[in-house]
Amino acid sequence: MPVRSAAPSHAPRQAQGSRLPDNARVRAALDWFTPNISWVNDQQVRITEIPAPPFQEAQRAAAVKESLAEAGLTAQIDRTGNVIGELRGVNEKEIVAIAAHLDTVFPPGTDVKVHREGSRMAAPGISDNGTGVAALLALARAVQFAHVKPQRTILFVGDVGEEGEGNLRGMRAIVDTYRGKLKAVVVLDGSGTDHVTTKALASRRLEALITGPGGHSWSDFGMPNPINALVRGSVRFINTKVPASPRTTFNIGQIEGGTSVNSVPHEARLKVDIRSESEDELTRLESALRECIAAGVRDEMDSARDRSKGKLEWKVELLGSRPGGEMAADSPLLAALRAADEVVGNQSRIERSSTDANIPLSLGIDAISIGAGGSGGGAHSLQEWYDSAGREAGLKRVLLTILGISGVAEEKSR
Ligand SMILES: [Zn+2]
Repeated sequence: MPVRSAAPSHAPRQAQGSRLPDNARVRAALDWFTPNISWVNDQQVRITEIPAPPFQEAQRAAAVKESLAEAGLTAQIDRTGNVIGELRGVNEKEIVAIAAHLDTVFPPGTDVKVHREGSRMAAPGISDNGTGVAALLALARAVQFAHVKPQRTILFVGDVGEEGEGNLRGMRAIVDTYRGKLKAVVVLDGSGTDHVTTKALASRRLEALITGPGGHSWSDFGMPNPINALVRGSVRFINTKVPASPRTTFNIGQIEGGTSVNSVPHEARLKVDIRSESEDELTRLESALRECIAAGVRDEMDSARDRSKGKLEWKVELLGSRPGGEMAADSPLLAALRAADEVVGNQSRIERSSTDANIPLSLGIDAISIGAGGSGGGAHSLQEWYDSAGREAGLKRVLLTILGISGVAEEKSR
């Protein structure tokens, strides 16, 4: 057997994924899910009913911290507002993180009461990311119940700032704090088991603001109007050509300004989301937005009948930027996911998307984003729903992936 003994040292970890269920403790953790599914569903309802608008995740974070502590993890909330529960490994110098974002897109005051009917639940945020957070709590329970001792330390993270204008600040802080030790990040976002995001879609969010003196609709007619300028600039911008490949998109998602129908407004603003498989295209599109807004202002000033009544100012600001990146096809993390898929009889298609995984991926740290099982739909809408049927397979897939990449301490024979 000389060939086998000459195998490279990383071989055991590669192979561990498929051997994991042979470990009695891992098996006990896997077996924890099915009899406890109604507990997991109840957790999802409880978490979803605690509002977590962007920048207001504290109440939900406190509840998640308490649950991780109850599961037996050392839990804390960091300065950014992330919840971190630690399961110490044999090797504390290497860390893998499993993270679910706590925040929703919904503003304060949104009715987040969950309506249940059999295995189906409906409420804003129930799937994105009630599913991920409930899975995080379930995984912590399962590994602690089964006394699984990982090789590498595992951090169970409920992170802030994934949605809206959060700009991934929670994940940025996690990566910043643990950089150097952080070997892999598994992001749980929403439901499903059909995909694995290994490629980070780069995006930028921009706000254009045009201001002017403002006045009366009748007596100040002819004064340059910020809304007119914004509309002129917007029309130019939406006529910008973007390539199909590398796929590049833009969306004017918000537009506001003015105070009443019979006033010349003193300001107008719009928010734009641009995404691309290419950073160069993003840069080009960002410049195009600036040029179009400048041109819109110029057009409006040129056509203003009474320029003595003041001039318009404009600026375009970057609200947030998500860097791109890609994980190597032969990465140990993808191998761990594939091995997990094999055990649960699942198949995953590789996707490019914009998630918390963008941050580690952009820095060359292995990271994936996956669903946490079951099925769901209507994300970011008031009609959002989740169906827990079959969620066990999703939970097992996540558990095997995370333990596949953390490694598990050998069982001692007595
Ligand atoms: Zn999400």
